Amino acid sequence: MPLCDVCGLREAKYYQHHTGRKLCGKCLIEDIRERVKKEVDEHSLINGSDRVLLALSGGKDSFVLLDTLSSFVDSNRLIGFSIVEGIPGYNREEYILRLKKYASERGVDLVVKSLKEIFGYSLYEVVSIARDRKKEMSPCTFCGAMRRRGINLAARELGATKTATAHNLDDEVQTLFMNILRGDPDRLIRQHPLAPRLSDLLVPRIKPLRKIYEREITAYAYELGFKFQETECPFIVHEPTLRARIRHWLYMLEKERPGSMLSLLESFDELIIKKISSTKYEKLPLCKICGEPTSIGRDICKLCEMMLDLGIEPKGSFNQTHSS
Ligand code: SF4
Ligand code: ZN
Ligand code: ZN
Repeated sequence: MPLCDVCGLREAKYYQHHTGRKLCGKCLIEDIRERVKKEVDEHSLINGSDRVLLALSGGKDSFVLLDTLSSFVDSNRLIGFSIVEGIPGYNREEYILRLKKYASERGVDLVVKSLKEIFGYSLYEVVSIARDRKKEMSPCTFCGAMRRRGINLAARELGATKTATAHNLDDEVQTLFMNILRGDPDRLIRQHPLAPRLSDLLVPRIKPLRKIYEREITAYAYELGFKFQETECPFIVHEPTLRARIRHWLYMLEKERPGSMLSLLESFDELIIKKISSTKYEKLPLCKICGEPTSIGRDICKLCEMMLDLGIEPKGSFNQTHSS
């Protein structure tokens, strides 16, 4: 059996394709922690006074986010936050308990809220209303908008100055290409962790895992024996969506030229950072219904618009919720 290329002591278990190195489990974990820390330090993503809300879904990426950040950030400055969508058979209690256990082992509190507590409706109820009213709607569009809003409301409520999501390198490069193909360069900038803050009500979002390959995250989770939620959401769409096609194409490219995704992201980062520093951005207007920031040129936000379309009264604040 070959030995690890880094320590030369232990048996190599993983092939790190973008560097061509063979690594043992311990060196793989250390390498990923160091790269996450480098990403955070290089762009000062977490400063001395920051309190960071970790958006934890219960999937492998969120465990790796929790584990890597808590390895170098004081756990008193981290708060775990998990949203229960309210989908029968999904978000089972045992996963939340496991998430709580992993968080508390790292000294991090976990706050759990359901979409029903925040908005008055679970995702399943929203989907049922849409079905009854014969409205065309994608559960994922609703779910994504409600979760993003819920995370931002929670961050403000819990006194966080940053929110951290567990997007990995594969997610980031797929999103980058989706925005390019849709001709939406502004979104590329808005989604960047160094994007200017366009509203005091939007808590800045960081993505510490954005330069870690998904396959490395899987190996990390496996190495530490994390058991994560593997049940698939029943609303997941299996048709070949644009993202699925891009994912397939990127994997082919990565196979031929290992490291392509990382070079792509780093090259675009350079361009985006230049653009951000040379442009003046307008502050976002507030939605006339919920008072939350909305896109330039809109009177009401997308979420209120979708809810009104279903005949649901939009809710305006996290304070209206009952505690779990
Ligand atoms: Fe929400 Fe869609 Fe993910 Fe299900 S698959 S949890 S509906 S975003
Ligand atoms: Zn080693
Ligand atoms: Zn609104």
